[in-house]
Amino acid sequence: MMTDQEVSDHFWNSVKSKAMALPWCAKCARAFFYPKPICPDCWGEISEWKAVSGRGKVWSHSVVRFPLVRGPFEERLPYTVAFVALEEGPRVLSNIVACPPEEVKGGMDVQITYEERDGKWLYLFKPA
Ligand SMILES: [Zn+2]
Repeated sequence: MMTDQEVSDHFWNSVKSKAMALPWCAKCARAFFYPKPICPDCWGEISEWKAVSGRGKVWSHSVVRFPLVRGPFEERLPYTVAFVALEEGPRVLSNIVACPPEEVKGGMDVQITYEERDGKWLYLFKPA
């Protein structure tokens, strides 16, 4: 079985290579998030990793107008934090970029995009 560290490394390396992949459980026939060594439903091991299509819909969102922490996100205020429901099923927490916060709507179609911030690659979403 993969260790927590190996699972985390595998996931973030897929983000870094701009092809985010999620662990897939063959028994449950679904992908899951957050990546961990075992399926949250059946506790079975990861069967394989599948790259996501990158398509999803805004499931829930909020606008951050004041800095919660000092750092690389501060200069981007205001910005939109959202749970995006991926086409594959899992909902992932991210930011919506390339779109003014007031134009982000629940259910809107978004597409994954990748960006390096302070040497770390992140997955973000923009309007599709
Ligand atoms: Zn399972």
